[in-house]
Amino acid sequence: MIDLHLHSSASDGSLTPSQLIEEALNLKIKAIAITDHDTIAGVKEFLSFGELEKIIIIPGIEISIRHEPIRELIDVHIIGLNIDHSSIRLINTIADQIKGRLEQKKAICKRLRDEFGYDISFDEVKANAGNGVVGRPHIVEIMTKNNPKKVVGKTKNELFKMISISGDAFVDRKVELNLEESIELIKSAGGIPILAHPGIYEVSDRIEFIEMCIKAGIEGIEVEYTYTKNRPFYGTDKANWAQNYFPEYFRKIAEKYNLIKSGGSDYHGGKKGIKIGSANVPDDYLKSFI
Ligand SMILES: [Zn+2]
Repeated sequence: MIDLHLHSSASDGSLTPSQLIEEALNLKIKAIAITDHDTIAGVKEFLSFGELEKIIIIPGIEISIRHEPIRELIDVHIIGLNIDHSSIRLINTIADQIKGRLEQKKAICKRLRDEFGYDISFDEVKANAGNGVVGRPHIVEIMTKNNPKKVVGKTKNELFKMISISGDAFVDRKVELNLEESIELIKSAGGIPILAHPGIYEVSDRIEFIEMCIKAGIEGIEVEYTYTKNRPFYGTDKANWAQNYFPEYFRKIAEKYNLIKSGGSDYHGGKKGIKIGSANVPDDYLKSFI
């Protein structure tokens, strides 16, 4: 069993990169990849801790790309596996993205407070994220924690949508790589660009969407993923359907279009009941990465 989609405390996971490796060793996982959101801050520790352990470790990243509703690119993530984390271009581009991302979150908190009357401050959200990258889930947590009366009857998914693209309190990012730029950046750092969790995107035609990503330079696709435990299916009556349907569907797509097969749990440290290895990714995918 392998798992090529894991988050550490360098983004929004709760385990440090070393703890991720320890946990994977406990579970007898053969190979893991670190894929933090828009950061490679955890990669160095991950590689140095894992070097002498009996596990294959793959450095990676998960890039959130620019929203482009016209191409149905909404909340789309591109994973880069086997990246060179010392690439100066990668390091500089990520630093710019992180700055833009923080400014966006600050602006969203301001809108929530000034226009929608939420008791929320960016400082609290930032503290909630700890050392990791501030993400929208951190905002949703503070919205819920500080405003119990205001959020009555609203699901976490609804609050998330409110601060996502076309949501009432959304603010766009100023610095953001689009689909092609993200893929190119990963390739420039020697990595393999992979379309993350392809089943979660709400698109009108899945084949056309995948073909657009292939044209943009994608080389792989996540076949196995924890659909029952993640948005938009988590807690809905479509969760089991998604889990039964998508892996088989994307396996066929990968074979038809000659895409590298990848997969992972999107583990964030035990949240949502996900474990390392939960996605049941077969070992034989490894040969594309090592
Ligand atoms: Zn992820």
